[in-house]
Amino acid sequence: MRIGALEAGGTKMVCAIGNENGELEKRVSFPTQTPETTMPELIRFFKEEQVEAMGIGCFGPVDLNRKSGTYGYITSTPKLAWANCNMVGAFQQALGVPVGFDTDVNGAVLGEVCFGAARGCETAIYITIGTGIGVGVYVNGGLLHGLLHPEAGHVLVARHPEDKYAGKCPFHPDCLEGLAAGPAIMERWGKPAAQLAGEEEVWELESYYIAQAVANYILTLSPQKVILGGGVMHQEQLFPLIRRKVVGLLNGYIRCGAILQGIDEYIVPPALGDDPGIKGALMLGKNAVEDARN
Ligand code: ADP
Ligand code: ZN
Repeated sequence: MRIGALEAGGTKMVCAIGNENGELEKRVSFPTQTPETTMPELIRFFKEEQVEAMGIGCFGPVDLNRKSGTYGYITSTPKLAWANCNMVGAFQQALGVPVGFDTDVNGAVLGEVCFGAARGCETAIYITIGTGIGVGVYVNGGLLHGLLHPEAGHVLVARHPEDKYAGKCPFHPDCLEGLAAGPAIMERWGKPAAQLAGEEEVWELESYYIAQAVANYILTLSPQKVILGGGVMHQEQLFPLIRRKVVGLLNGYIRCGAILQGIDEYIVPPALGDDPGIKGALMLGKNAVEDARN
């Protein structure tokens, strides 16, 4: 099947053509401007490619409730031009094919479950630590939506006693995203995260926050695999620090080999490199075709 995949981000729109086996044959990206400028570019691209289905992993918040009048919309995003943009409707109308839709991070976890580090898992999470922090949740064989969709980047963490940084989240003084996403690192230390690679205290503090959140996700969601991606996780020295701190925080309570003996294979980078989101979007397209048949 010829599937169009869209990874809709705040800075760029990654478009790809591929199939249900996760094989990509073409990829282009467009800068995210306003919907008036960008949507026609995206639609033109997918129309010319004659796709049979579309899958979209989208920045949010988004409306995933199929019973809602605004299903498939981007809702109250801080990227104001895109607030109330009807993503699913626009593609359905222009292309006349089934359109699958979910959050960017749910797309990414689906990609890793189908083709990457979480293959064979019934329950897994994908955490992106970049400009923001988001968590995609695949639980008991399906993507978690619930009330809205998980917003687990905003979980509350205990502040390090020596961390006097105010936090970057306008909603929560002590949430993970506000204390540990790329912009928070830059504001706290005065340099972009990529230029702080050699500064041990930066990564000690960063892992102090990430590990708390990961321990909480393990305690609440019981994932069989924890995948950590996004720009900040290019700092590979974070992985051993996070693993050690997670084991310490859980303190032997979760008596599972995956944690007690296999932590190096339990908390891992994405196996699909930069592609979990776009390959997950292919699967959202494939699933939309199956849903349309039922
Ligand atoms: P986005 O979250 O916007 O989709 P990314 O996942 O690439 O994009 O995240 C961008 C953030 O990651 C920026 O805040 C940037 O400072 C940070 N970042 C990018 N590359 C690196 C790197 N090599 N090391 C540390 N931080 C990085
Ligand atoms: Zn927050």
